[in-house]
Amino acid sequence: MMALPELLAPAATVQCARAAFDHGADAVYIGVGPHNLRARSKNATPDELQGLLEFALEKKRRVYVALNTMPGDDALPGIESLIVSLVKRKIAPHAFIVSDPGVISLCRTHAASVALHLSTQTGTFNGAAAAFWARQGIGRIVLPRELALGQVRALCSGSQTEMEVFVHGAMCVSISGRCLLGVYTAKRHPNQGDCPQPCRLRYRVSPLYDNETESGEWYTVEEDEAESGTPVRAFVFNSKDLCCLPILDRIVRAGVASVKIEGRNRSMHYVSSVVKVYRAALDSLAQGGEYAVKQEWREELDRLDHRPYTTGFYAGEYLLQDVEDSRPLPAVRIVGLVREIVAGRTAVVDVRNPFNKGDRLNVLPVRKERMPYEATIREIRDTQGRPVERALTNRIVIVDAEEGTELAAGDLLRKCEGTGKPLRAQ
Ligand code: SF4
Repeated sequence: MMALPELLAPAATVQCARAAFDHGADAVYIGVGPHNLRARSKNATPDELQGLLEFALEKKRRVYVALNTMPGDDALPGIESLIVSLVKRKIAPHAFIVSDPGVISLCRTHAASVALHLSTQTGTFNGAAAAFWARQGIGRIVLPRELALGQVRALCSGSQTEMEVFVHGAMCVSISGRCLLGVYTAKRHPNQGDCPQPCRLRYRVSPLYDNETESGEWYTVEEDEAESGTPVRAFVFNSKDLCCLPILDRIVRAGVASVKIEGRNRSMHYVSSVVKVYRAALDSLAQGGEYAVKQEWREELDRLDHRPYTTGFYAGEYLLQDVEDSRPLPAVRIVGLVREIVAGRTAVVDVRNPFNKGDRLNVLPVRKERMPYEATIREIRDTQGRPVERALTNRIVIVDAEEGTELAAGDLLRKCEGTGKPLRAQ
């Protein structure tokens, strides 16, 4: 049986972390307070982290805490007091994710027993750099997305340090966040965890005017044609999203210790869905035989809010970013979370978006051995047991799904935008 790497999932909140564990993640990474690269995510409080660690311990899973900003001197005391307060309360995550040598030194001083994972932000591009970081006590290196698979393989075999790679999620058009676009457009800094993502926007390229006289050149813009056929705006910076499902077997065979899903700004639905697919893919690899991407995995990833997928730089297209046709694709809408089961097909549902009696919904099952399926909602009742035609946002309702449906607490109910049908496969 093939040895599998850890499946590592992002968590914007502890609820998201628990959902990731339920759907098959071995580990999650989460921020505590603002000192991480998702400063505007909800993140966790120390109390929530403590609860999550207890939950993870029970399930034999791991929790890593991101401390991976590049702080100035003014921000270091805040990071130090966070580390000290966690230590005082005996809250010990399985690792801190760090990028700055100053923060590494604070972790070493105050929390020497907590493992350190070096963030992709630091940029470890060669074996000498990996050896350097190993000597600093780094137990795992998160490799840059810009490496080719051969380079990943060489780093894994030439180092005692564990290597972690991204397999799914958004890509920067710059090298792992080394970018000032957000500072120019919104005075928000990626290295302080606050990128406004201007690279994701559509742009119109126009000439400069000097005293009413046109100067400079017009550039050809090929995307986003208006109905008249006139090109208007384009995604000139935006990268496609990473999806390594087609090459997951080669990534695992390269010897990585962990495969990581990007997206600490992403919803619980997104994380649950991506984790479920990669769990299924890894488990199928463990069974041996020829690895093949199943249609149902592709369909599930296509249901998510994403840009077209790419396998990124792993094929060896070093320093070539894939921006062509990178407009976001439509996604499914989450309409409810199953709170508890009354009977097999009757469930208490926490409504996130409206749905109607008779709607055909797509179920993302929490049980990791089950893939998504469709079910018609036969009846909806309010908490008093009165029949209603429509479930409204933020209400609790009881639904009866069609005969044969087996719901479970934690299942997500979804609706495909527009047509109510699953979105196209890639
Ligand atoms: S603007 Fe885009 S490329 Fe730059 S750091 Fe933000 S997400 Fe990355």
